[in-house]
Order: sequence, then structure tokens, then C-alpha cells
Amino acid sequence: MKTYDAIVIGAGPGGYPCAIRLGQLKQKTLCIEKDRPGGVCLNWGCIPSKALIYAATQYEKARHKNAEIGVKASGVELDVATMQGWKNGIVGKLNQGVRALVKGAGADYLAGSARLLSRDTVEVKAADGTVEQVRADKAIVVATGSSTIEIPSFRFKGEKIVGAKEALSLSSVPKRLVVIGGGVIGLELGTVYQKLGSELTVVEALPDLLTGIDADCTKIVERKLQKHGAKIYKKALAKGYEEQPDGSLVVTIEQDGKPVTIACDVVLVAVGMRPNGRGLGLEEAGVTVDAKGFVPIDKQGRTNVPGIYAIGDVSGPPLLAHKATKEGEIVAEVIAGHKAAMDWASIPGAVFTDPEIAVAGMTEAEAKQKGLAVSIGKFPFAALGKAMAITETDGFVKIVADKATHQVLGVHIVGPEASTLINEAALALEMAAFLEDLSLTVHPHPTLGESLMEAAAHALGHAIHIPNR
Ligand code: NAD
Repeated sequence: MKTYDAIVIGAGPGGYPCAIRLGQLKQKTLCIEKDRPGGVCLNWGCIPSKALIYAATQYEKARHKNAEIGVKASGVELDVATMQGWKNGIVGKLNQGVRALVKGAGADYLAGSARLLSRDTVEVKAADGTVEQVRADKAIVVATGSSTIEIPSFRFKGEKIVGAKEALSLSSVPKRLVVIGGGVIGLELGTVYQKLGSELTVVEALPDLLTGIDADCTKIVERKLQKHGAKIYKKALAKGYEEQPDGSLVVTIEQDGKPVTIACDVVLVAVGMRPNGRGLGLEEAGVTVDAKGFVPIDKQGRTNVPGIYAIGDVSGPPLLAHKATKEGEIVAEVIAGHKAAMDWASIPGAVFTDPEIAVAGMTEAEAKQKGLAVSIGKFPFAALGKAMAITETDGFVKIVADKATHQVLGVHIVGPEASTLINEAALALEMAAFLEDLSLTVHPHPTLGESLMEAAAHALGHAIHIPNR
């Protein structure tokens, strides 16, 4: 039996960076993956969705937006097959890159489905049915991610009832799309198809879209979706559907106890992900798997069983690729005997809607709930020259700071390139920066980044391009 220092189960954004870091730290490592390398993120999530968001945005701009700046295009056509081929090409390139990076770091890569036989032995079943056993002397890292949740009354069916994975590969643009779940996936992919020409309806069970994100931010996205014709049902439950003789669908939802019917062509079910903690032999090996399927860990990624670690979606929320990656790197260092722990100031998040939303740290509501007195600074993109010059003036930067010390507690951005701008905020939180640090840092002009500097100055009462209170 082949023996390793560490075996990583899963080659998603948690598992493969963990294997690479273990290799860098001279640990004899094996990374096992049953599907395509890169996990949901690379194959059926973050990367392909960003490619389609880009393509859809270009199409929409060419058709509707650029005329206002004097760039008129006629005969703009959408070639779905080319768009899909281009997107698949990106995914393919990254797929190969993952394998190469793992091997380049000195770790082994094995294709197959892994299951724990004991606390140190893993059985791997390859696609051709061959089975082998491998042993880990020091550690097994569980990085098995999460899977799409299905609703019993909306079982996936061809290109009619789809999850995120299928929605990323539709062969044509649905005329009418109903999205069940106004969360991250629902709104990102809903935006894609709205821009590609679908009539969009969103059905959300809770009172708000994107629950958990600062409501000031989500309102801007909601209004823009509606401005472009989306119908949004909140506090509404999707009940079922009927297929019509012409192949179209009629979805029934319930809002305020009353049934509402919506005619459509495709339904996207995006009601969350469930952790892949079961069926891996973890419980048999004594590892705690909670009622939801998460594997609880400590600050160093340890489960309750010595030598077995978990990272990424399977170890608990937030279910984000970058959280998984950081956990993977840290756990690798822990296994190699380094002093490392998960002690970040924030896990930032980005939602690739139009405009984008990005957040780091506490919301105003969370700070107040903690009994903190806060100063708020807010700077609208409508007041920023660069934002006007790129016709992206919707949204703002909002900074939440401790009123007494001026320490930055949270930054919430809705607007152009929010997903990039948030990196400065994440660094500010990690460095325990004060409002003065952000406002005194010279930001090049004209850039979108000036909005952070101005929002910090606004909280201090001396923003330059907007009135101060
Ligand atoms: P989500 O939890 O973000 O949203 C699901 C939504 O569906 C919730 O608002 C929920 O209230 C609603 N819902 C549940 N059941 C419903 C029903 N029967 N009828 C109507 N609404 C219902 O989940 P998601 O959008 O599926 O995303 C899954 C995970 O993937 C999330 O944890 C997310 O963080 C992650 N993700 C992140 C990004 C990003 O960071 N940009 C992108 C995609 C996915």
C-alpha cells in the first residue's frame, strides 16, 4: 500500500491549494478527486459564471448601452454556441492547470472516489472500477465541498428545470426564465439571462433578496433588475409546475397565502448548497458530522479525530471558494508543524450582480447589535469622475467605523468593480486600519478606488466631492 504524509480528498478550491502547500512544505502528499479538478468553483460555479456574466454584459452594452456614448452598433448577434465554447475553453485550461500545479509542487494526483476505511486508510475507486488503498501517516484532509439542493417539486429535468450547473450550459436563451431563490446564484445567473434577453422572474422565500447583505446595497441591485423588467416575488414559495402541451411551463408560487401562476420556459432552482460530509466513511471513523452534514473543525482545521482535518464548504459556512483556499493553506501549514491558525479579521464576499456587491466586516446593523457606537461614511459613485466616465454611476461605498476609535469595522460596496475594490477594504480590516489610514492614503485619480478614500473622509466629516454632515 502506498503511504503518504498527507492525503487530501477533493481537488476543489480548498483541496488543491492544500495539496500544493503541503508539497511546498515537503510533505509527501496525495490529492484525490472523483470528478474534474478544480471543484464546483472552477467547473460549474465561479469561473464559468463570471465568463458568462462578462459575455452577457458585452452583449447588453453593444445592444442598449453604448449608443448613449455615441458608439452605435447594428446587427449585434448572440452566438450561444460560440459563447459556450469560449467559456468551456477557459474552464478546460484551468482544469489542466490544477493538475499541473499539484504535480509541480511535488504532490501526487489520483482520479477516483475516496472513502475512509479507518482513521488513516483511504480506499479509492477509479472510474474503471479498479480499487486501491492508500495510507496517510500524518493527516487526512477532507475537502469534499458541497452539492446543489434540489426541491422535490422541481426535480431537475433536461434544459427545463435546471440547477446552476445546467444553467451555465443552456444551448439557447430562454424567452422567460423563473429563478427560484433570490440568493447569490439566482441573482448572478438571473442577471446573465436577463442581459441575454430573457424575461426574468425571481421567487424568494424570505422578505429580502441576498439575505445577510447590507440592505442598502441589495436595494440598488433589486431596483436595477426591476428597471430592466424583472418581476420579483418576495416572501413567496415555489410550489410546483405543470408542463404545457407546447413544452412551456406554468409555475405556481404562493405569496401571502395566495397562489400566483407564472408562465415560463425554464426554471432555475438556486436554493442553496448542502455540505458533502456524508458517505465518506467519516462517521464510521469516529468523525463528528453535524445534522446538516458539516464537519465541525477548530481554528486549525482539526476535526474531533486526531489526524483528520476538514476545510472549505464541508467544514462550515460561509460557502466561499476563497475561504476554502485560505483554510487549505493554513491546514497544510498546521500538518507540516508550523504555527498557523485561522484568525482572519474578515472573509470578504463578492456578488457579481449588476452592479456588483462586495462586503467585508460588519454591517451597520451588526455593529449596532453588538452595542457599538458607529460612524458611517458613504460616498456615491454618481459623485465620482471615473464612474461617470465609464457610465457606471449606480451605487456607493459605505464604511462602518467605531465612533470613538475610528477603527474600520466594515465596508460595503455596491457599484462598478466592487469585487476588486473590496480588496483594499479587506486589507484595511486585516491591518486594523482607522478611517484616517484610508483617507490619508493617496489614491490615484481618476480611479474607482477614490470612493473608499472619500467614504472614509466622509465618516470623518471632510469628504471633498460630496457635502459633509
Ligand atoms: P443562497 O443561500 O445564497 O440563496 C438561496 C436562496 O433561496 C435564499 O435566499 C433562500 O431564502 C431561497 N429559498 C430557499 N428555498 C426556497 C423556496 N422553496 N422558494 C423560494 N426561495 C427559496 O444559495 P445559492 O444562491 O444557491 O448559492 C449557494 C452557495 O454558493 C451560497 O452559499 C453562496 O455563498 C455560494 N456562491 C457564492 C457566490 C459568490 O460569492 N459570488 C456565487 C455563487 C454561489
